Amino acid sequence: MGDDCIFCRIVAGQIPAQRLHDDDQVMAIRDINPQAPVHVLILPKRHIATLMDADGTPALYGRIVEVARALAQSLGIADKGFRLLTNCGPEGGQAVPHVHFHLLGGRSMGWPPG
Ligand code: 5GP
Ligand code: ZN
Repeated sequence: MGDDCIFCRIVAGQIPAQRLHDDDQVMAIRDINPQAPVHVLILPKRHIATLMDADGTPALYGRIVEVARALAQSLGIADKGFRLLTNCGPEGGQAVPHVHFHLLGGRSMGWPPG
């Protein structure tokens, strides 16, 4: 979308990131500040600010879940379990206003989240 969106800049190749998946609609990158042995961000390549924005389609979110499933397999966290989550809005803990899903694994997850 713009130079002010860090994930759009990563999609555009203006900021380096470790890409684990890249297709016409969806990209997955390693989180720069991992909170688990496996911490991947899965995001739409076009700018959608939050999950509540109307331009996200069910097909897009279905594809994101498929990418998450494939990465869980390829990164070796599928068998023991993992967490897939999105933070929406300030009180949901969303720091970067470009929709993304966190894939976390490689350790036991606590509940409830903070
Ligand atoms: P949120 O709090 O919005 O759900 O998560 C944003 C995530 O983006 C955080 O886990 C943070 O570490 C990650 N992040 C922020 N800036 C960058 C960056 O420049 N590159 C990568 N790979 N991850 C980033
Ligand atoms: Zn963006």
